[in-house]
Amino acid sequence: MTDTVFGKIIRGEIPCNKVYEDEKVLAFLDINPLAEGHVLVVPKEAAETLDLLSDESAAAIGRVLPRLCRAVVAATGVKEYNVLENNGQGAHQAVPHVHFHIIPKPNSREGLGIGWPARGLEREAAASLARRIAGAIA
Ligand code: 5GP
Repeated sequence: MTDTVFGKIIRGEIPCNKVYEDEKVLAFLDINPLAEGHVLVVPKEAAETLDLLSDESAAAIGRVLPRLCRAVVAATGVKEYNVLENNGQGAHQAVPHVHFHIIPKPNSREGLGIGWPARGLEREAAASLARRIAGAIA
């Protein structure tokens, strides 16, 4: 696991606009927000992608994420928002340390823009795929 800018922020080596901290989680304002109130929620555990994160850190993130969303809504007055978590460069992850974005969506110009190239689901292939994924859950 390489050190990242978020590791440096967690260790206090570089500053951030902190909004929340507990034993396992740190949350702060994104330095290049897509909208006012864009917050990053980061486990202190240095896992690169979500599939590598421990259950303990995942639980700590899950416990606090809705509370942080409520706080962002209350502080910005913007009721609509996206929660985004990118994994891997090809999936737009720039910092290889797990982080959840909370991104207010005040209007059609600001906030997250989403491409959603949906396609159909073939019945038999879907059943087989669902079985494969279910069987792979550790
Ligand atoms: P990703 O594309 O990896 O999901 O998002 C990384 C995010 O981290 C970007 O939105 C970027 O603006 C933010 N970011 C990168 N470096 C820093 C930094 O030094 N401080 C803060 N607060 N945010 C950062």
